[in-house]
Amino acid sequence: MRLAGRRALVVGLGKSGVAAARLLATHGARVAVADDKGEGELGDSLRQLDGVPHERHLGGLREDAFRGRDLVVVSPGVPLSAPPIAEARSRGVEVIGEVELAARFIEEPIAGITGTNGKSTTTALTAHLLRAAGKKVFAGGNLGDALSNRVLSGGKLDATVCELSSYQLEGIVSLRCAAAAALNVTPDHLDRYPSLEAYAAAKERIFANQKAGDAAVLNLADPRVAAMRTPEGVRRRGFDPRGRNAEAAGFLRAKSVLAVDGAEYDLRAPTLRGAHNAENALAALLLARHLGAPPWALQQGLDTYPGLPHRLEPVRTLDGVEWVNDSKGTNVDSVEKSLSAFDGGVLLIMGGRGKGAPYRPLRALFPGRVRALLTIGEDALRIAEELGDLAPVTACGDLRTAVAQARKLARAGDAVLLSPACASYDQFRNFEDRGEQFKALVRGLS
Ligand code: ADP
Repeated sequence: MRLAGRRALVVGLGKSGVAAARLLATHGARVAVADDKGEGELGDSLRQLDGVPHERHLGGLREDAFRGRDLVVVSPGVPLSAPPIAEARSRGVEVIGEVELAARFIEEPIAGITGTNGKSTTTALTAHLLRAAGKKVFAGGNLGDALSNRVLSGGKLDATVCELSSYQLEGIVSLRCAAAAALNVTPDHLDRYPSLEAYAAAKERIFANQKAGDAAVLNLADPRVAAMRTPEGVRRRGFDPRGRNAEAAGFLRAKSVLAVDGAEYDLRAPTLRGAHNAENALAALLLARHLGAPPWALQQGLDTYPGLPHRLEPVRTLDGVEWVNDSKGTNVDSVEKSLSAFDGGVLLIMGGRGKGAPYRPLRALFPGRVRALLTIGEDALRIAEELGDLAPVTACGDLRTAVAQARKLARAGDAVLLSPACASYDQFRNFEDRGEQFKALVRGLS
């Protein structure tokens, strides 16, 4: 793509907007940036543009920012239907997403991953599997580093693994995934999509530009995913995370045993516990296979997957008690997944700023599994009301007290799990801060 002399506008100055602006400027485009936020709020982002010549239109998306532009690069946080963007498009201005811009400069094969849940895990695991096979890989996109940064850092790689949200997929035109996976589609983001079908259609776009011989990895247990269309000649690599589907390229052969293309893999890393991770691992194995990773490397990669911070993250084992940080478990759905990854002996720390959803769906998972419930934060009382008849409850108030209390109650073989089912903002800056504080408290135990 030739950018020299083009008059480009980057809409949205998050990390991908900043990266896009830098990429555009590096390639000789005249760059302007626009954001709803004002200069004060954007301090960090603007600092990253130091030394990059650009024009600013801050504190609101206005028509004048679009005047005279012939390329508009939209950040995933901004809907393409926003009036000035839709209007520019109708005038024939090229409007693309940040990942589309970056992909035009990427020469190595791209493995793309989308889905409502499990994207980050599958992206990180796919990259890890490829690295275990000795391949040089960039992983990013929606998770971690923006794709434009892959381009800016240059060099030759064997593959780029890219997490793609539905918002990012709305902004692609020609981005082609040599291997693409759709994990699942469940109700989410319905504030931005008119229907679940429209949301699924955005995800289906991940396959749209594939060519004959590319691989489409599809979760057959999710009817919306299984029904997704792929271009002619694309290899449909279905997987079944629930059972042994004879038509599937990958399936769950037995508890923690995955079969992919006739080879078997044990799923035993503590970072990949739970049925949801069998789904993520099957997708990652199929993607990595397509990009040339041999079976021996895949088993080694599965065994050494370090996990992502705050998602079932092992912190330490002390006197036979395992301490696990699942601070990313900010809603009931997510805690359901995490809790089901344990067979019993769980001391569960829950609470924080509630999201209004009932905690009752967790009831089925308590008997035989949760030995004690330790509550913290604003929603402690409601949690105790809805779940307190199933396990002894200790109202701890804050995390420090909960950790001290768990230390007293836990016996060898137990697991202390922080999986709050709540937002963190009542007592912490964000879920990362909550997880970091938990880890620090746990590491400080003697
Ligand atoms: P995403 O990037 O799509 O948000 P993550 O890999 O960060 O997904 O996982 C976020 C949470 O979603 C996890 O903590 C877990 O509770 C849940 N989860 C992960 N994988 C799946 C899956 N395949 N299906 C359903 N839920 C999942």
